[in-house]
Amino acid sequence: MKVTEHIKKANGKTLFSFEIIPPKKGKNIKELYNNIDPLMEFNPPFIDVTTSREEFVYIEKEGLFDRKITRMRPGTLGICAAIKHKYNVDTVPHVLCGGFTKEETEYLLVDCHYLGINNVMALRGDAMKGEQYFKATKGGHTYATQLVNQIKDLNSGKYLHGVLDVDDKADFCIGVAGYPEKHLEAPSMKSDLKRLKEKVDAGADYVVTQMFFDNQKYFEFVDAAKKAGINVPIIPGIKPIAVNRHLQLLPQVFKIDLPETLIHEVEKCKDNKQVRQVGVEWCIQQSKELLDAGVPVLHYYSMGKSDNIKAIASALF
Ligand SMILES: Cc1cc2nc3c(=O)[nH]c(=O)nc-3n(C[C@H](O)[C@H](O)[C@H](O)COP(=O)(O)OP(=O)(O)OC[C@H]3O[C@@H](n4cnc5c(N)ncnc54)[C@H](O)[C@@H]3O)c2cc1C
Repeated sequence: MKVTEHIKKANGKTLFSFEIIPPKKGKNIKELYNNIDPLMEFNPPFIDVTTSREEFVYIEKEGLFDRKITRMRPGTLGICAAIKHKYNVDTVPHVLCGGFTKEETEYLLVDCHYLGINNVMALRGDAMKGEQYFKATKGGHTYATQLVNQIKDLNSGKYLHGVLDVDDKADFCIGVAGYPEKHLEAPSMKSDLKRLKEKVDAGADYVVTQMFFDNQKYFEFVDAAKKAGINVPIIPGIKPIAVNRHLQLLPQVFKIDLPETLIHEVEKCKDNKQVRQVGVEWCIQQSKELLDAGVPVLHYYSMGKSDNIKAIASALF
């Protein structure tokens, strides 16, 4: 089922979902299952699986370093298929512009269709680690809007080499990213919202937000989006703080603000076990307010470890 159909079927009830990241190359998928298993009692209608950009690795060879480009966490589609099969739940692979040609994207979408995966998140992807700016891959897309266009084209039987007389058309439900505190590269909130509107006008069916720790930012974003004519569901994506280092890392990587009270609570902690507990409590409070506001889905960034997400979901669902 499509994400939008799940939302419609829930008839105003807030759903629970989460995002996972593929394991590093060579690691066992069982660890992923061990983290998904405890969350299945909360009936997620869909689970997102991220796609990692390729990165530079340095291999020592006779005293010199050879620079290679590789994807350290491949397997997004395989994991989506495995989870769908094992848990009978819809999965949402993240599809990126960065690192993929349009042809590769087309093949990926064809594979998704054969596997019965009919939801995708269309994203640009970040700059590669070690590079300051996002550079479009040769033969790939520059912005997520172009990716949305390609997926919509495929839905109508238009492939890269022409229109086909297809008897089994794909019908992807498309999610895109939204930023309550503005995308880090956008010159202003207004311009970022305009870009989001372009993605929705191109055919995006729903939006999932970047993490935020102050619900007011989400509520204001939803209001502004509505005023800008964006009328698709806007799913809040939230994450519990898990380690002290997040105080610096999250603002640095995502250009988001952390509320003073949360900073204060984390700074009082003696170790990361206490920080994890503060993160859980903060996230429960955030989630309760979002639930009361009637958000369609509470979508959690699990980062692979599910004990904190389980504690949060147990308090709410
Ligand atoms: C819910 C969610 C899931 C994510 N999952 C992943 C993942 O799995 N893997 C991963 O690598 N990253 C992921 N990301 C991160 C995402 O790839 C980055 O935030 C990336 O920098 C932007 O992606 P986007 O799809 O929002 O890009 P876009 O919508 O293309 O926007 C990128 C920037 O360009 C601007 N822009 C858009 N169109 C134009 C235009 N025509 N002209 C000029 N400027 C324009 C926008 O304002 C914005 O500043 C995720 C983010 C979110 C919120």
